Amino acid sequence: MQGSTPQEITGIIKREALQLGFAACGIAIASQLTRHEAPLKDWLKEGLHGTMGYMKNHLEKRLDPRMLVEGARSVIVVAVNYFPKEQQNPRASLIVSKYAYGFDYHFIVKEKLRRLEEKLKELAPLHQGRIFTDSAPVLERVWAVQAGLGWTGKNGCLIIPRKGSFFFLGELITNIELVPDAAFEKDFCGNCRRCMEACPTQAIVAPGKLDARRCISYLTIELKDRIPDEFREKMQGRIFGCDICQDVCPHNRFSEPTGEIAFNTLEPIKNWENKNWESLDRQGFNQMFKKASSPLSRIKFEKLRDNIEAAGSETGH
Ligand code: SF4
Ligand code: SF4
Repeated sequence: MQGSTPQEITGIIKREALQLGFAACGIAIASQLTRHEAPLKDWLKEGLHGTMGYMKNHLEKRLDPRMLVEGARSVIVVAVNYFPKEQQNPRASLIVSKYAYGFDYHFIVKEKLRRLEEKLKELAPLHQGRIFTDSAPVLERVWAVQAGLGWTGKNGCLIIPRKGSFFFLGELITNIELVPDAAFEKDFCGNCRRCMEACPTQAIVAPGKLDARRCISYLTIELKDRIPDEFREKMQGRIFGCDICQDVCPHNRFSEPTGEIAFNTLEPIKNWENKNWESLDRQGFNQMFKKASSPLSRIKFEKLRDNIEAAGSETGH
């Protein structure tokens, strides 16, 4: 396939992406994200990233993929649907975020991207590049918009038209020239403010602007310390992540269950009631979540215990 044109390679890569199970694939030109520099710097200056100090690192790399991959010309952006087939036990009021129902997504998205990269290498042997998923140096949602996948909602999530927002994103940055998609210029949020109104901690301080320090997702996963008192009454049962601003989004009525078996809901999430969560000990945590490579095992057992206690303090469990 040596000598294929950018058009041919682009067509084959997009078809391959769908065959690999990606729900969407778009391409952006690897260039500096000049428009996003000021808002990102302001957000950091205001301290809205909380203790996520790594957000401040490698700013120039985050704003220009050519600093991450020498000679980068294209950013291939993919989305993987994680909307679960089986919901959490409805009798449990201690709630886990949907993205964490199954096996750790980093492996899955990376593996699929690796296979896509193999295809690209076959078509363009001079390909040099890097794969990213949920990784700090890349402004994933910005690239997804640039690649025409969708728009960023007021809740800060990437929303894919007629598909919703329950997607993981991944990128393959390459030095190969591909045919870019038009950036997604529309915004179908309109006058809706449901996510902003539903957020129990008022973490969405302006449309698309999140104060991470107030967000339950941050408080239950990123923050290493005990959840501060001012938020413990407002958790609405969330013990790992929070989907409230996505659950209320009208665009998620289009969500369809994922076909990815690795995201099948783990047994404890499917069946446990509050009492099981409340009596979870270290051994059970290792057995149920660590062994299963669940995203829950990304936090320490003590952190999960505190989350359960904080979430239960409001529900009275
Ligand atoms: S994830 Fe939860 S806490 Fe964070 S902004 Fe959305 S609704 Fe608010
Ligand atoms: S809930 Fe409404 S405002 Fe929020 S992201 Fe969805 S459409 Fe946009």
